[in-house]
Amino acid sequence: MNAAALILAPLLGAVVGSFAATVGLRWARGEQALSGRSRCDACARPLGFSATVPIISYVRLGGACADCRTPIHPGHFAGEVLGASLAVASVAFLPTGQAVAAAAMGAVLIAAAAADAASRRLPDLASAAVAVLGLGLALLRGPAALLAGLAGALLTGAILLLLRRGFAARRGDPGLGLGDVKLTAALALWLGAATPWALALAGLAGLAQVRLAKPADGRIAFGPLLTASGWAVGLSLQAGLFGDLLP
Ligand SMILES: [Zn+2]
Repeated sequence: MNAAALILAPLLGAVVGSFAATVGLRWARGEQALSGRSRCDACARPLGFSATVPIISYVRLGGACADCRTPIHPGHFAGEVLGASLAVASVAFLPTGQAVAAAAMGAVLIAAAAADAASRRLPDLASAAVAVLGLGLALLRGPAALLAGLAGALLTGAILLLLRRGFAARRGDPGLGLGDVKLTAALALWLGAATPWALALAGLAGLAQVRLAKPADGRIAFGPLLTASGWAVGLSLQAGLFGDLLP
């Protein structure tokens, strides 16, 4: 890693994170997500360059549209900060090729988390992209990691589907969304035998969130927790922090 990469990573990461959050929030509203220029979510006025500088614009405008003063969805700001942070973490811990792939994975997960937080739905397209990037990242760790990923995805998918069926039979409510199952299985392609760590982290964070936020229906969007813990465990795995314990 060199100095130029460390300066470039947060700038690029913030721009990509901003785009990812916008895509996720448009997914949540059922809009065309991947094209179209930047505009205010409320008044649809196109945004000039000065209003689209990641992080800085949000802070300068006080988190509201310059024209209609409608508050800007905080997901945009969160996506920008997360995008910058995970790009820096990627270049700090990984060689260039793997860092780009890990940062791209992070961007897809930001979009998925934004969509789930806003609409409680995880888009299939995001899970498909996670699966492709996950396979690539596992392959970069070697054939053993790739095999572990394939086995992990099958096992995770099967266990979660059985859990869903069990919950549905006992309480009439599967509890876990089918989107959560697909995304977890896709992440397992990357995480392999480390998948339980990510699930445990996300589960603990979920319990804490239910305790602290006390949602009226007792439910929370699991996607943001799953994506955050999945990426953190994935980066640790990719950087070799688990050593020889896990491929
Ligand atoms: Zn506006």
